[in-house]
Amino acid sequence: EITASKIAAGEVVEKPAMVVKELVENAIDAGSTHIHVIIEKGGKKHIGVIDNGTGIAREDLNLVFERHATSKIRTLEDLYQTASLGFRGEALASICAVSEVALVTKTAEDEVGAKVTAKGGKVLEIAEVGALTGTSITIQNLFFNTPARLKFLKSDKAEAKNISDLMSHLALSHPEIAIEYTLDGKSVFKTPGNGKLANAIFEVYDRNLMQNLFEVSHEALGIKLFGFASTFAYTKGNSTLQIVFVNGRYVKSDLIKEAIMLAYKPYLMHNRFPVCFFFIELTPNAVDVNIHPAKTEIKFHHEGDVKQLIYAALRKAFNLHNQ
Ligand code: ADP
Ligand code: MG
Repeated sequence: EITASKIAAGEVVEKPAMVVKELVENAIDAGSTHIHVIIEKGGKKHIGVIDNGTGIAREDLNLVFERHATSKIRTLEDLYQTASLGFRGEALASICAVSEVALVTKTAEDEVGAKVTAKGGKVLEIAEVGALTGTSITIQNLFFNTPARLKFLKSDKAEAKNISDLMSHLALSHPEIAIEYTLDGKSVFKTPGNGKLANAIFEVYDRNLMQNLFEVSHEALGIKLFGFASTFAYTKGNSTLQIVFVNGRYVKSDLIKEAIMLAYKPYLMHNRFPVCFFFIELTPNAVDVNIHPAKTEIKFHHEGDVKQLIYAALRKAFNLHNQ
């Protein structure tokens, strides 16, 4: 059983950023309005996620550390089947199987909080502690018992970069939650949680963007687009910054990049690069997403429609905002 957990954990949890993603998504699921993520040494040494959500009821505490569906995961195929369901009930147990965990939690009904410590998937202690309503989880020494996995980790800097990118994407896709991100003792960003995408963008990215973005909003062909794009004059070094979410999920898509470049091309000077933050909504049947939750590739069934929509949305916005 431990072996099955470890194999599965290795698949679910390949790198620190994936741990952070699962923990923050749990905090979001718990209805938190404030989430603080604290990372040290690229997440290899310390990953902390503090939320003010519902907390975990006492009777569920033990369960949280157990793999709910161990018997189902016998082959890689099984694993990917589970993956398509979003690893329900698997993530936390998988993370616990390969790390040292301390979890403090309290529900609104509880008078005192509970602290659970576990190592390598084994619960060591459950104790009463003073706590605010919510959950605080600390993961230390990730992969301490899976040396092969540990060996495959990149440098602290590279793993931290993955986490920072993930945190930026999470902050943008949840402007209604105040998200604070601290890396190696320094505050990287803190969004206000006022529901405004523009505010989240300015906190997470370049503050100079403030004067250089205009709103983009368009709906056609059963596809909705909302977001911000940069003025023709804006420069941000020599790279593009194009952050795209499809149905709330961060994706990478060459098709979207192409459509953006196509719309900008006649207007952009040779040393300028467009910056875009786009949220695209369309019927889930119209896309294939890679079933592995860590993958960001997306395939649109009607690529022409998507291209056309983005092009039209940008051209409309250029006119509206005198670009
Ligand atoms: P899933 O999210 O798919 O249910 P997880 O392994 O990620 O599975 O979490 C297991 C369970 O632990 C969740 O269903 C939830 O009940 C509880 N849980 C985990 N993290 C939190 C949190 N931050 N706040 C409240 N409950 C949590
Ligand atoms: Mg989860």
